[in-house]
Amino acid sequence: MKVIGLTGGIASGKSTASKILKEFEIPIIDADLIAREMVLPGKAALYEIEAIFGKTIINEDGSLNRKKLGEIVFSDKEKLKKLNSITHKTIIEEIIKRANIYRNANTYPVIIIDAPLLLELHMQNLVDEVWLVAVNEDVQLNRLMRRDEISEEDALKRIETQMSTEEKKKYADVILDNNRELNHLRYQIQEQLKRVTS
Ligand code: ATP
Repeated sequence: MKVIGLTGGIASGKSTASKILKEFEIPIIDADLIAREMVLPGKAALYEIEAIFGKTIINEDGSLNRKKLGEIVFSDKEKLKKLNSITHKTIIEEIIKRANIYRNANTYPVIIIDAPLLLELHMQNLVDEVWLVAVNEDVQLNRLMRRDEISEEDALKRIETQMSTEEKKKYADVILDNNRELNHLRYQIQEQLKRVTS
């Protein structure tokens, strides 16, 4: 079984590529989904976060008060580091666990790990290939502004806080060019799937 890590910058089209892969019935391990699930009431990571940041970050119904936690960590870099050390470790562990379940079942020739922070968290070591969804910055800017209904200034700020696409390209085994229409992206995915499964 081949394990593919799918990544890309903000609004590059990872979710879009992931959706196409799902249409081809390829199993997806979704890092963003894991990140949301692991802080649900009763989960170990939520207890760890509560132990560090206190009861104020828990809502009355036991769920995580994201707004409150956001206020704490975005004004304090050390606290953000601490939070990331909990969440990133838990996400990586869960991804490894799920990938191993697929590996042991050996039902699928290929699975995808969809992880926006694949390279930042050095998860390229966990996968056989890195697929990067890449767009030019002007396309990225326009799609981000339109999708999130934000100004050019805010969109640029968000893009600039991330590792650049050029930097990400250094680690990519496959670059999926998403500057053109959806069918162009679909075609490239289909070709790559053919290659890895042949
Ligand atoms: P994020 O990391 O911010 O969640 P993402 O990489 O998952 O973003 P998407 O949400 O898939 O990116 O795509 C960003 C926006 O661009 C969406 O509104 C999507 O519909 C649109 N989009 C993606 N690919 C194309 C394309 N080839 N043509 C036109 N629009 C596209």
